[in-house]
Amino acid sequence: MNSRPNPDHLAKSDKDHRSQFGKQIVRHARRSRLYIGMEAFLTLRGLFFVGRRYTCPCCGWRLRAFTHGGVSFRIRPLGYCPRCHAKARHRRVWLFLEQRTNLFADSLRLLHVSPEYCFSRRLKKVSNLNYVGVDISDCPNIAIKMDLMAAPLLSESFDAIICIHILEHIEDDRRALSELHRVLKPGGWAVISVPVRMDQKTHEDSRIFSEEERERLFGETSHVRIYGHDFVDRLAQCGFQVELDLGKNVDQKTRESYGLRDDENIFYCTKNRSKNPTP
Ligand SMILES: [Zn+2]
Repeated sequence: MNSRPNPDHLAKSDKDHRSQFGKQIVRHARRSRLYIGMEAFLTLRGLFFVGRRYTCPCCGWRLRAFTHGGVSFRIRPLGYCPRCHAKARHRRVWLFLEQRTNLFADSLRLLHVSPEYCFSRRLKKVSNLNYVGVDISDCPNIAIKMDLMAAPLLSESFDAIICIHILEHIEDDRRALSELHRVLKPGGWAVISVPVRMDQKTHEDSRIFSEEERERLFGETSHVRIYGHDFVDRLAQCGFQVELDLGKNVDQKTRESYGLRDDENIFYCTKNRSKNPTP
């Protein structure tokens, strides 16, 4: 599950090394083909949707409409960017990162949890960033395969963290949040977003396993809770100072220009610079 560098690898025979090297080449070739094919398709679809009504901040493309997910060409209001596959939540977070953080200005080591393609394709190339993508599954854009509840990462080793719509899938989200707080440097920040209903408290029930019940109660079959206004308290309990940036406070002109929803809220979390932050 976790992937700490294994010193036993150093003791492998030359044959093992050659075998491992061969597998790495095949894996890389598959990923390259996947990447090239995906970029070719997205560019083609982006051209089909070129227009002047919207701008996608994640890719900079000017668009006449948004679309459905996957390989669809059908129009969907506030849907996916046809060029980079960014959802409304990603467009919102990207704007926040540009306007409210030092992500594109300072030299930072960035931890990106379960990297979205629309983000990783660009962030990997930003010269001031040391980009580290992580995920529990073996997806193409990651550097480390790991469980967020037991991160094999050094404490205070990242300047910034991006974690978008991940925590609602994790059984012990407090443990995952504590891990994020642990690996963040003092003075560092984490941009976190989750599906949240601000008119109620967080609803979770570990006895609910059926996909039908999870979808009915939590919004999706893979969600284990629906967060409420008390999510701020949960973040604070894990050590963060929290600033809530409400989607409904984004001005109408910006929402219309970038195709944003009014319910995509951002939790901007910082880690106290003092040695003993208040938990
Ligand atoms: Zn885009």
